[in-house]
Amino acid sequence: MFDRILIANRGEIACRVIRTCRRLGIHTIAVYSDADKDAQHVRLADEAWHIGGSRPDESYLRGDAIIEVAKKTSAEAVHPGYGFLSENTGFSRACKDAGLVFIGPDPESIEAMGSKAAAKHLMAKHDVPLVPGYDGDNQDNAFLAQQAHQIGYPLLLKPSMGGGGKGMQIVRSDAEFPEALATAQRVAKAAFGDAAMLLERYIEHPRHIEFQVFGDRHGNVIHIDERECTAQRRYQKVLEETPSPFLTPERRAAMGAAAVAAAKAVNYVGAGTVEFIVGPQGDFHFMEMNTRLQVEHPVTEMTHGIDLVEWQLRVANGEPLPMTQEQIHSHGHAIEARLYAEDPDHGFLPSSGRLVRLRLPEPSAHVRLDGGVIQGDTVTIFYDPMIAKLIVWDVDRPSALQRMREALAGCEIVGPKSNVAFLERLVRHPSVIEHRIDTGYLDRHLDEFVAGAAQPDQRVVCAAAVATLLHGECHVTSEAADPHSPWNRADAWRVGHAGKRLVALSVHDQRHVVEAWGDAGNYRLQCGEASCTVESARWDGHTLSARFDGEAQRIDVRADAARVLLHDAEGIRWRFERVPAFVWETGDSASGNQIIAPMPGRIVLVKAKAGDKVDAGQELLVMEAMKMELSLKAPRAGVIEAVSAAAGDFVEADAVLVRFAE
Ligand code: ADP
Ligand code: ADP
Ligand code: MG
Repeated sequence: MFDRILIANRGEIACRVIRTCRRLGIHTIAVYSDADKDAQHVRLADEAWHIGGSRPDESYLRGDAIIEVAKKTSAEAVHPGYGFLSENTGFSRACKDAGLVFIGPDPESIEAMGSKAAAKHLMAKHDVPLVPGYDGDNQDNAFLAQQAHQIGYPLLLKPSMGGGGKGMQIVRSDAEFPEALATAQRVAKAAFGDAAMLLERYIEHPRHIEFQVFGDRHGNVIHIDERECTAQRRYQKVLEETPSPFLTPERRAAMGAAAVAAAKAVNYVGAGTVEFIVGPQGDFHFMEMNTRLQVEHPVTEMTHGIDLVEWQLRVANGEPLPMTQEQIHSHGHAIEARLYAEDPDHGFLPSSGRLVRLRLPEPSAHVRLDGGVIQGDTVTIFYDPMIAKLIVWDVDRPSALQRMREALAGCEIVGPKSNVAFLERLVRHPSVIEHRIDTGYLDRHLDEFVAGAAQPDQRVVCAAAVATLLHGECHVTSEAADPHSPWNRADAWRVGHAGKRLVALSVHDQRHVVEAWGDAGNYRLQCGEASCTVESARWDGHTLSARFDGEAQRIDVRADAARVLLHDAEGIRWRFERVPAFVWETGDSASGNQIIAPMPGRIVLVKAKAGDKVDAGQELLVMEAMKMELSLKAPRAGVIEAVSAAAGDFVEADAVLVRFAE
């Protein structure tokens, strides 16, 4: 086995690879950018080297700088993780030339699968079923339009060199085609440096089912069953699980055989994933092969009791696969959820900033956490805003879903916005539970998964108020110099006062003021019109138990001086911010007279100029931030007074980009 390896990546996957290396006694060398000087992967590795600026092209995409560190530190092999240079033929070749083992397939295999179009040509020769479409070299716009017409609609436009679901466009008619093509080409050019397009018939109501494959240098290629990733939002995976609830043993065998055939067609060595799109009738079609470790690989590890990174290292070291196809057996059910710093209430805008609080569930035999940040770390704007992956295992799918609900309830993220409440709704949704979804389901039913500005009912507010009161009472008694002095009591006792306390809590900027009388777990509460009598309330920091109007209830609730986090009887998460009981009105600063940059980023397109008359909701600018394209729209109809950004500009958060005439 290797003694020293370099990890050419960051975040959770770098940490994940380091963990396996540590278990195997391999010395790990990390590389890092300016933004990552205090990152966890830097702390976890045995040594870490700075390679450049925060932008990926200044650091994690600089193959030369990485190879230089590898040589300097006598690394024998390089693990590329996923993303960045993991599927870069030039980098894998350069490693080889420098005498380093690239932990992945040969450059020829990466190249063969790198272009979706070329991969489809090759698969056709090996009888792997494909989605009908155009995958040729002629990229003339008029010619593509003609091909589209022939394939018929709906149709999917895909960047041939694409990944991460970026740039894909559904087209429903000849009339829509030219604009969709222009958008897809622009995104593809910016993201992948290549505007080549693939046209595919759009499979309606499909599922995404992929197979983990593995090859070695002794001619063995096997598959390690499937993962279903049908829960997607805008072509990006949200939940992944194995086994697929949709597959019968016969379908699994047929798809597994096709996946192995695909891998063999490119002499595949190492870990790879063959992705299929599966129609409602079970017809399956090759989509692409990812020639690397996949984000969702842990679900396979949980059900098969193996460590895929260890397999990667062994295979790269020339050893044969640790198992044969016959020895591959799946046990139980595993599900992964991707916890992201993003704001579901505002179009899933990536969020950034310091993780003021990051509480994740305790790892156990049922719960695994793959993370790259801890409390106090910062989610930067430069990279994928993933906070952690939550992976659960249990004997069957319903039990695994329940584990996931519990695990998510144990997550608390303060600082950047997160998708945890969205994920919680997802794993309670009947269509997800009964597996009645297709890849477009979440997008079509988004309002069922996004809370918006919904407000809790009075009982929930009262429970939050009780936790606040108990927190305050116990906090003061524990710190008071003289616990018997009436001046050190935070309860209702006041000389000459009626003993009323006000608890003010805010949810989505709406205030809820609760008037409270009583102390030590017995209160009378008034919240708006509603009143409630609370008896024998006890709170241990996690769980509140009390009688509310005589009805005994147990509620999960956490509280501190700043906020209360509570899950109601339906499992819905509510976060209350504690606010001053008295406020004064402020003027409304959010007038519709300007467009400001929601986050730092680069302007891609400017579609308006001073003097233009625009409609409400009209797209005026497109910016790219945190690897996403954001469309900035007119807040109202009106005339533009000034546009203060040009394509290519880098703008700071809150910069005024467009000003409207009064
Ligand atoms: P995988 O196929 O490994 O499950 P995805 O298909 O979600 O991962 O993403 C494909 C690639 O795109 C990965 O290498 C990942 O690093 C990258 N990626 C995933 N999500 C994003 C994102 N939000 N922004 C940019 N890149 C992403
Ligand atoms: P990427 O490299 O971005 O992962 P893929 O080709 O794997 O691109 O496609 C990503 C997602 O897009 C799939 O998981 C699926 O949801 C959807 N998709 C891809 N091809 C089709 C198709 N022909 N019909 C319907 N949906 C598709
Ligand atoms: Mg894919």
